[in-house]
Amino acid sequence: MSVNLELLETALDSAKLHHAYLIVGYESEVFAKEFVQSIFCPERCGKCTHCQKLSKGVHPDLIWVTKSGKRISIDQIRQLQQQALYAPTEAERKVYVLEAIEDLSLEAANSLLKILEQPPKYLVFILTARSANILPTILSRCQVIRLQSSSATDIENELKEKEFSGEALDYLMSVTKGLPHWLARIAFLDGFQPLAERDNARANLKALDEIKLTQALGESGSFIAQREITLEILKRLPASNSAQILKIAKAMTELEPEALERFIQETSYWCRDLLAAREDGTLFNRDFSEMLHTQAKKLSEPVLIEVIKTVETTPWAIQRNANVQLLLESLLLKLRAVG
Ligand SMILES: [Zn+2]
Repeated sequence: MSVNLELLETALDSAKLHHAYLIVGYESEVFAKEFVQSIFCPERCGKCTHCQKLSKGVHPDLIWVTKSGKRISIDQIRQLQQQALYAPTEAERKVYVLEAIEDLSLEAANSLLKILEQPPKYLVFILTARSANILPTILSRCQVIRLQSSSATDIENELKEKEFSGEALDYLMSVTKGLPHWLARIAFLDGFQPLAERDNARANLKALDEIKLTQALGESGSFIAQREITLEILKRLPASNSAQILKIAKAMTELEPEALERFIQETSYWCRDLLAAREDGTLFNRDFSEMLHTQAKKLSEPVLIEVIKTVETTPWAIQRNANVQLLLESLLLKLRAVG
């Protein structure tokens, strides 16, 4: 279990349930899930109808709102307003969970505020956010629960309890670079099988040409698939001619900013690992240790440092509205050295 149970109990201990909670922290959604269960079944027995329906994601009195695009939309909030009029059907409470509340537009936030100001008695709001940087008017209506970010080691220990194999654990640490918020994002999904997902992703990538591969970066919402795609692109770069590289750069300009950002992040870790491998340092991509060491021997340090500089300044330059295609072309041409 990844949540701080004491914190959960304190939150629920006060004689009555408040009508709105704001959970702040990188693992706020994981915490919210446990919190919701405690509201419907204080023992969190796992066996009663509430627990069963929650685990299947079909509890009629829980409405869990994730963002449909970049953020929760005003339409989604309006829908909640409508639904709030209907009393719970199976429990005493009806629970709304809203994710990533810090990203709400002002319009949506104001609309949410209307329900928060005069909610029906049976309604409980659980808002989650990475930071408490949200409208003060919303903040003031919520009980705020701040989560301590668990260290990677804590999470690794929890994962061990989940009976992941050593190989699966190692893989998870490689994919998430041991970053707690990345780990928390994928490692606690129900029925999550990291190695099966990895094998599946790798098998699918083989058949794709460079352009399809680049497009897949934007189409896949899976953290694991995005990592495997990035490494596959890097691996193919050295054998690509300049014309192919220009095409890949073009395809990259059409990606959503998040997908491009993931590609650059992942690439940046790869390049750092090459530098670390030269000096037998600790690697992030543990599962590619052998390949990194072989590759690192072929590269000179100045070349590598030059590539790293380009990787690191590219997002900065993109944000300043430079010519994105041109930036990506020169990035990829340089990355040809490290694939
Ligand atoms: Zn139960």
